[in-house]
Amino acid sequence: MAKRTGSVVIVGAAMTGGNAAVALREEGYAGRVVLLGDESAIPFGRPPLSKTYLMGREDLKNWYVKPRDWYEANDVELMTGLRVEAIDIRAREVTMSGGGTLNYDGLLLATGGRNRRLPLHGADLDGIYQLRTVGECDAIKAAAAPGKRAVVVGLGFIGAEVTASLTSVGVKVIAVGSGKGPLASVLGDQVAAVMAAIHEEKGVELVLGDQVTGFAGRDRVEAVMTRNGRRLKCDFVVIGAGIVPNVELARDAGVAVDDGIVVDAFGRTNVAAVFAGGDVANHEHPLFGRVRVEHYNNAEKMGRAVARTMLGRLEPYDYLHSFWSDQYDDKLEYVGFTRRWDRFVVRGSLEERRFLGFYFSGGRLLAALGLNRGGDPELDESGELAVSGRVIAAGGRVDPAQLEDERIDIRAMLM
Ligand SMILES: Cc1cc2nc3c(=O)[nH]c(=O)nc-3n(C[C@H](O)[C@H](O)[C@H](O)COP(=O)(O)OP(=O)(O)OC[C@H]3O[C@@H](n4cnc5c(N)ncnc54)[C@H](O)[C@@H]3O)c2cc1C
Repeated sequence: MAKRTGSVVIVGAAMTGGNAAVALREEGYAGRVVLLGDESAIPFGRPPLSKTYLMGREDLKNWYVKPRDWYEANDVELMTGLRVEAIDIRAREVTMSGGGTLNYDGLLLATGGRNRRLPLHGADLDGIYQLRTVGECDAIKAAAAPGKRAVVVGLGFIGAEVTASLTSVGVKVIAVGSGKGPLASVLGDQVAAVMAAIHEEKGVELVLGDQVTGFAGRDRVEAVMTRNGRRLKCDFVVIGAGIVPNVELARDAGVAVDDGIVVDAFGRTNVAAVFAGGDVANHEHPLFGRVRVEHYNNAEKMGRAVARTMLGRLEPYDYLHSFWSDQYDDKLEYVGFTRRWDRFVVRGSLEERRFLGFYFSGGRLLAALGLNRGGDPELDESGELAVSGRVIAAGGRVDPAQLEDERIDIRAMLM
């Protein structure tokens, strides 16, 4: 694609799409940039929706990718509230809701994901919410008056954070999860047990090792039923059941999909001039192999990286991956990536809730976690987590016994 002419169309005007548009301009691309999204919001980061914004402690301005007037000032045509309905890869054209069409020289699919629906009896009752958009967050906020009773379904990131935020504003929360505690599937049972204790100390009733089987109520939800026979009375429900990547547009156009849109290490799909990034992109990572990552830092960095690919700067996207989660005053930071591990070692104290955890597979360190310890790996270069990240990036060959041993400085392990 020529650098100073042509036209880039970006589908999905959120974190990935917004950052791609910014990077195109920052890198000097002077062609047409159209950024299209079906939400009404301008590109922004969703983290406060389960935390500070949900609790009424922050508005979203700090989370905008760029202020509203940046788009016009930088000649980025931001079209919100508009869906792309079809892609014609031969004509290099997209069709929008309403029938309008746009031609592209480069097309970035940043379509993200949507909430996974639970096909359960009563799931359509009023008072049952999911959380991805500002509108969905506002609806939960309106229901979350102090003294109300909520059931949170699912104890992944959204479920655990919403549980913490609702509890913090005075809602009485019962949280149901199939594992041994919050975040068990991502962080393991030991960390989940620590997180469970944190929530219980704040007054949350955790229903663990159980599953929701249906919802009861006349006009509105009144109770949640579980496999183990519980009937949990409530005023409202928030379901955090994960997301489904929005691949249909790509798939129908002939773009390869497999748990997301399949891209190579540069963000290129199997179709010429079509790229993908962010939550929807199943990408080839130089260290971790095929991964699809549903985190803010990936959306920001991959949006930018794929924009550079579109300009012909072919560098593999090798961001180490990282995320954070805030629950009450406790802060989790994570660097690296793994879904499975065969060894987990801890440095510090699980009881004091201040520790690092290290995830190994086949003798290789693949990921490190800090609870209230280790610093933000993005901001604190000499922090223990940033250093652990460098160990992972260098191949992760490190002795687990040394990592456990507080007498040995983690920084020394880099040598
Ligand atoms: C409540 C909440 C809290 C979170 N907190 C954290 C956190 O603390 N830390 C962290 O690391 N991550 C967090 N995340 C995850 C992070 O927000 C996501 O990784 C990020 O939103 C991904 O950005 P994206 O642009 O790739 O996808 P999305 O945010 O899903 O955006 C995709 C956009 O494309 C639009 N779209 C899809 N199809 C079309 C179409 N055909 N036409 C037009 N538009 C379309 C969608 O409507 C959407 O606006 C959180 C997510 C949520 C929901």
